[in-house]
Amino acid sequence: MPENPLGGFGVTFKAMFKKRLTEQYPEYKKPTAPRFHGRHQLNRHPDGLEKCVGCELCAWACPADAIYVEGADNTEEERYSPGERYGRVYQINYLRCILCGLCVEACPTRALTMTNEYELADSSRASLIYTKEELLSGLQEGMVDSPHAIFPGMTEKDYYNGLVTEAAPGTVQQEPHSGDKLNEEPQPAETTFGAAEPAAAEAVSEK
Ligand code: SF4
Ligand code: SF4
Repeated sequence: MPENPLGGFGVTFKAMFKKRLTEQYPEYKKPTAPRFHGRHQLNRHPDGLEKCVGCELCAWACPADAIYVEGADNTEEERYSPGERYGRVYQINYLRCILCGLCVEACPTRALTMTNEYELADSSRASLIYTKEELLSGLQEGMVDSPHAIFPGMTEKDYYNGLVTEAAPGTVQQEPHSGDKLNEEPQPAETTFGAAEPAAAEAVSEK
């Protein structure tokens, strides 16, 4: 028995007047710092074409081996980015990612940046491998969804010099190649756990 049993109550009493540190999450979501490292985003040019050129530099820079990229050639019938190549398959495995931002530093086209979104928990492994469709930024005013033709008279360099500010009048989306459905299909539920990991995870380990 302590000498002064009321001493313990004193500690409790004093704590009642201290500033509360408890965060009322998820009812209240504390704003992050502007440069917080959250979920990634694949950016577009102002006309909707993609900035990613499928160079894989982000994947090679990643210390956690969390990125898988497959590049492919653009054609005039199916153009995703202004230059020669684009990222046909792009995946980030958030089971591995430590949100360090090294991939963003490595990207030569500013295609890859990080958002402030931090709610990345989920109940399956497959759903934490984000595909290109999940990472690609939405369409803003003046954009047409890729694939579509390059702005007439403009070159890839002009895009990076900021000379293209919106889609050319009359721009329409081209018919996507069937091969790109690969990245759109949800990963099958039976591969969620155990040895049969999603194909995406196997591909990541191949690099
Ligand atoms: S933030 Fe870091 S760990 Fe995550 S994908 Fe980029 S380089 Fe890899
Ligand atoms: S996100 Fe950037 S570094 Fe990664 S493949 Fe695309 S262009 Fe290359």
